[in-house]
Amino acid sequence: MSQVYAIPIILTQRLGQKNWNDWCWQLKNAITTAPKHLNSVLEKYPVFITPYYFSLIKSNDPIDPLRAQCIPSPEELKDQSGEDDPLMENKFMPVPWLVHRYPDRVLVNSSNMCAMNCRHCTRKREWSKGRVMRSLLDIDRMVYYVSRRKKIKDVIISGGDPLLYSTDRLEYIIKKFRDIKHVEIIRIGTRAPVVLPQRVDSHLASMLKRYRPIWLNTQFNHLSEITKESRLACDKILSVGISINNQSVLLKGVNDNAKTMTCLCRGLLSIGVRPYYLYQCDIVKGAGHFRTPLLKGTQIIKAMRGRVSGMAIPHFVVDLPDGGGKIPLEPKYEVKSFKKKTIFKNFEGKLIKYEDTA
Ligand SMILES: *Cc1c(COP(=O)(O)O)cnc(C)c1O
Ligand code: SF4
Repeated sequence: MSQVYAIPIILTQRLGQKNWNDWCWQLKNAITTAPKHLNSVLEKYPVFITPYYFSLIKSNDPIDPLRAQCIPSPEELKDQSGEDDPLMENKFMPVPWLVHRYPDRVLVNSSNMCAMNCRHCTRKREWSKGRVMRSLLDIDRMVYYVSRRKKIKDVIISGGDPLLYSTDRLEYIIKKFRDIKHVEIIRIGTRAPVVLPQRVDSHLASMLKRYRPIWLNTQFNHLSEITKESRLACDKILSVGISINNQSVLLKGVNDNAKTMTCLCRGLLSIGVRPYYLYQCDIVKGAGHFRTPLLKGTQIIKAMRGRVSGMAIPHFVVDLPDGGGKIPLEPKYEVKSFKKKTIFKNFEGKLIKYEDTA
């Protein structure tokens, strides 16, 4: 298995550093095949890995934290429990590719393409439809919908990965939404800083700068994804006054323990990225092997509180099935409550009484 996957890396070494840093080269040379025994998995859930991300995998261990996120697993076909569209995004689309679930926010599903096919992806149902972009008509329809609804203040341009568009096409999309007076902020949801950091160049950063306020949300799931390259990519974005928030997914074998999560979140702060959400893995068909019990997430948050900068602690959220929306899950600190008195247990396990006001 490792031999098959080693080919692109050898190729790269021959081609030299110049091409390695070209994001188009990274996409053109992405790994899209797998050993025969995984063919049936690929038919349903194709593989797509940039040589850059592949080069970060350190071991042949199937639960290596980076390997598990990108290399297909036979487990994906065994999973009978999940849904293709667990968040019922398709039900909440008033126009094609625009999810309107909350009154003031919309999510633009900007394409079917990502720089990597993450094996745990909520939208893996879309992959087999091919790597297609949205047409200008699709974009115009979404823009028209938003322009007619003054309540919408926040437009999230998200996955597929909008950074797979050329900078000019991306600017076309952003500008259209920015030109709507009542749209206050634009968020870009992208995993490019993690899986294709070469994409984040000065040209892109200076384009984004013109459309601020923009917020960029990304998805680092493990400390090993914080590299010289990903740090540089984040720095380019930060240096034009755009904040970066991280939305990790809690994944079994990848980051489902307090130590790994703490290292990741500390590492994120050190590169100027704020841990925003830790997602409970959605009940997606083909990703069941990544799921952890709800308790795991709250235990991790509880272990972090008090021991690491509060800025490093994300909100642990579960996105409910049937489009129920996100619910934050907090560890319980109240031990007992009577009249105005509450007893709390702090991070050291000490019991402390607090007297409330009227
Ligand atoms: C997650 C999500 C949002 C954004 O939620 P925030 O809590 O504001 O980050 C918006 N729309 C949809 C459909 C979502 O799934
Ligand atoms: S980058 Fe996001 S949308 Fe794209 S495959 Fe990965 S998890 Fe899914």
